[in-house]
Amino acid sequence: MLMISDLVVRYPKSGENALDHVNLSLHKGEFVCVLGKSGAGKSTFIRSINRLQVPTSGRVTFDGTNLTTLSEGKMRRIRSDMVMIFQHFNLIPRMTVFQNTLTGAFGKRPPYKNLLGLFSEKEKQRGLQALQEVGLEKHIHKRVEALSGGQKQRVGIARALLQDPKLLLGDEPVASLDPSTSRRIFELLKSIHEEHELLSIINVHDVNLAKEFATRIIAFRDGKLLFDGKPEEVDDRM
Ligand code: ADP
Ligand code: ADP
Repeated sequence: MLMISDLVVRYPKSGENALDHVNLSLHKGEFVCVLGKSGAGKSTFIRSINRLQVPTSGRVTFDGTNLTTLSEGKMRRIRSDMVMIFQHFNLIPRMTVFQNTLTGAFGKRPPYKNLLGLFSEKEKQRGLQALQEVGLEKHIHKRVEALSGGQKQRVGIARALLQDPKLLLGDEPVASLDPSTSRRIFELLKSIHEEHELLSIINVHDVNLAKEFATRIIAFRDGKLLFDGKPEEVDDRM
């Protein structure tokens, strides 16, 4: 489903490769956790997949399409199969849970007044269903500022679900959450992953969370792939 061939990312002015000749082949159904110390290249890796970061060289192939040479227009269409959840949730302040979920997923922007009027009944119905799936149905008309961290991330996940993705990317989605909330978010992600038969690729700094939930773990050090294997094979180098 996702082939990464000889991927190199070097940031301007930096002498070193943030990603250094990475080769990987990742498949539908895998729940991949990405480990590595701060600066190892995890975030660069995730962002190279949906081309938020343009690779210096090498190739990313998704469902047979080479993304590295794709026009921005075609990339936009492919991106709708890919969703991303973020450490800082990337929600729109002052808007409610329901408004954030619909606006994020269906791409319509404020006017804030009567925002919900922009969406069809079908879109709203799907929005409600996604919010039920993440356990937020009682909070749909709350402003997102009023939510806990775990609830905010659940909005991010509902918004992602509404795009009906094939690929779920997570750039440290639990790094701002306490350990027990982090674990519950991973439980939710794993169940969504299974329900929707996704490929999921998620950065996480907590080795234990990765070992508990991942079906496959990869680890980077200095931009190089240091490890690729099963959770039970992970040792303390990670
Ligand atoms: P991680 O997610 O594992 O913490 P990153 O992918 O953020 O690692 O960073 C990998 C390397 O690239 C680090 O050396 C970091 O300093 C560098 N880097 C990351 N983003 C940028 C950027 N926008 N400009 C320059 N260097 C960057
Ligand atoms: P926090 O601890 O930050 O409040 P949680 O992630 O624990 O965040 O919970 C967020 C919301 O999801 C809460 O409103 C809670 O009622 C709901 N919730 C938590 N776990 C479940 C679950 N297993 N099924 C359905 N809803 C849940």
